[in-house]
Amino acid sequence: MENILILISDAFNEDLHSKLSRYGQVTRDKSRIKEVTILLIRSATKVSREFIDSAPNLKLIIRGGVGLDNVDQEYATEKEIIVRNTPEASAIAVAECAFTLMIGITNHISRADSSMRDGKWIKKELKRTELYGKTLGIIGLGRIGTELAKRGAAFGMTIVAYDPFIQNSTYAEIKPEMKDVLNISDYVSLHMPLNDSTIGLINVETIKEFKDGAFLINTGRGKTIIEDDVADALRCGKLGGFGNDVWYNDPPKSNPFASLPNVLMLPHLGASTKENLSRISEIVENIINEFINY
Ligand code: NAD
Repeated sequence: MENILILISDAFNEDLHSKLSRYGQVTRDKSRIKEVTILLIRSATKVSREFIDSAPNLKLIIRGGVGLDNVDQEYATEKEIIVRNTPEASAIAVAECAFTLMIGITNHISRADSSMRDGKWIKKELKRTELYGKTLGIIGLGRIGTELAKRGAAFGMTIVAYDPFIQNSTYAEIKPEMKDVLNISDYVSLHMPLNDSTIGLINVETIKEFKDGAFLINTGRGKTIIEDDVADALRCGKLGGFGNDVWYNDPPKSNPFASLPNVLMLPHLGASTKENLSRISEIVENIINEFINY
């Protein structure tokens, strides 16, 4: 294949540019979209119908990461463009992120740290909660959910899960309905993809099924929750806390959680470990190698 132009549209490891130069010309110049054969994206670039129409030479889209909700896959297929992702790379990074949020929120890490910086001593106000002996409910027991289940078990938690496509697991007791998980979980962690069945899944009605004071963790996709409903539940104490990595937009246009004390927020850092970015680079190179030599 001749005259291959590879566009690195989003944030990847710095060394990827030079690694890929053996396969063609590599650019970060998005104005060259008309010439592009291979497009590398993460979550920032939205590959809509219009975007695809603006790239007449596009043959391969590689999403470094898991979620493909930013790619119009149906239209790409219609245009005979191959779409690949790197789902196997990110599971540990995101599971560790969910666990970090779980530990962080329950131990008041953010509030304790900022109080010390402000010269305050609020030891009596802060009571930590142990994960040991608690029930962790996982919604979506795929790669990331399973890695989280293992980590929860190592901390002495009981692991239950809801996943309509999974009947058995070594790592969690599978419940037939989501409410069976929400009813008994002290921590609920979301790990399903964003699609028609999961958009707005955590809303004013499903929140009623949670245990009073339960903690919600979301490192899946922002739009699987109704943010205002979660914020209301935090205000009235129905939810005890919320650890969040994912938003309606990156960065969020408005943030209903910003003024709430029982919330720990991250700017979509789930996949952003050095190790994961190296794994993604390796897989991207393999996919390109395979594509060119096919
Ligand atoms: P996966 O495909 O291995 O697992 C997803 C699981 O969700 C599957 O087992 C599937 O059966 C289940 N599922 C589908 N519909 C469901 C529903 N309605 N209710 C409950 N479960 C349902 O994917 P993964 O690698 O574990 O990633 C999960 C999600 O995490 C991705 O889709 C992505 O949106 C998100 N993610 C976030 C970050 C981040 O930076 N925070 C990074 C990577 C992935």
